Amino acid sequence: MKISPPDYILSIKPYVPGKPIEELEREYGISGSIKLASNENPLGPSPLALAAIEKALSGLHRYPDGSGYYLVSKLAQKLGVAPESIVLGNGSDDIIGMLTRALLLPGDEVIMTDPSFAMYDITTCMVNARSVYVPLIDRALPLDTVAGAVTSKTKMVFLTNPNNPTGTVFSGKAFERFLEAVPSDVVIVVDEAYIEFVQDPECARAFDFLDNSRPLVALRTFSKAYGLAGIRVGYGVMPPYLAAILNRIRQPFNVNSLAQVAAIAALDDEAFLKQTLAVVHDGLAWLYAELEKMGLRCFPSQANFFLVDVKKDAAAVFEEMLKQGVIIRSMVSYGYPSYIRVTVGLPEENARFVAALKAVL
Ligand code: PMP
Repeated sequence: MKISPPDYILSIKPYVPGKPIEELEREYGISGSIKLASNENPLGPSPLALAAIEKALSGLHRYPDGSGYYLVSKLAQKLGVAPESIVLGNGSDDIIGMLTRALLLPGDEVIMTDPSFAMYDITTCMVNARSVYVPLIDRALPLDTVAGAVTSKTKMVFLTNPNNPTGTVFSGKAFERFLEAVPSDVVIVVDEAYIEFVQDPECARAFDFLDNSRPLVALRTFSKAYGLAGIRVGYGVMPPYLAAILNRIRQPFNVNSLAQVAAIAALDDEAFLKQTLAVVHDGLAWLYAELEKMGLRCFPSQANFFLVDVKKDAAAVFEEMLKQGVIIRSMVSYGYPSYIRVTVGLPEENARFVAALKAVL
């Protein structure tokens, strides 16, 4: 006998993971392909993090430290916040899920932009709450419109800064206005997965607005600028009472021991972070110049990826690029039928992307 889940679970769009690169290569009869699809660090992991992981391998028979004591202390010191305000996650995905599970009731409304990171909607639907979408305007996150969409049913708002998939940012001034306009019992989650890449000095940083007067949460991750996407570690910073609520439902060993030592070492690896930012910023400038020469419009990005209008069916361009061994992301399912999203790679990868795009268009 088959059982059926509640309707609200069935309303969740199934997550379809991309195939492993090796499988794609086998299918397409290619080799040596490059992946510029998931906004990962092209330099690989920080060497200091790798060394720390190697050293910690012999301790794998032990459970991880359930409080993440050393990582939390290090973050608290580095960020200038109290350790009690930090919650660690198995990636920032994990914190997003903890927030919705711990704070929402069925029927509550959660505001997010359209398009936005899929986990906001999935974790909202998981608890039978309702996603309310606010469309981006000119591919930027319209904070005033988001504030205007808040109703008495709104319990949570997800903002992404820089935004994914557009790479745009909102300013500290605009965020200050937003906070004034939104009732102080609405949970505001600012997802700063790409904040390390930002060059715009006006860009808001949620940390500057954290205090105990309202439930404001800043989400950060080690998956992007720190090059540790595969080991899964992220964190949220929030008022300590809210962190205590999340910690009630956090799985005790949600951050594995290798992830904890890797993250600590990555925070110390300032040279690696600096090199990462240089590669991404130089790469972005080079790619923009090349794509402009091809007559293509790119959208200025403050992150390590950018959108480009290829003026053709993006799904077909994705397929053709794949045959050339270059994996990028089609934005068709995001509502941008002629756009692709490209992660900045190493100089040789960026050159391969441009060459493949020329061949395809
Ligand atoms: N937020 C945004 C906006 C993202 O793009 C991503 C990764 N794609 C995440 C969160 C999740 O990051 P993590 O690997 O820390 O779960």
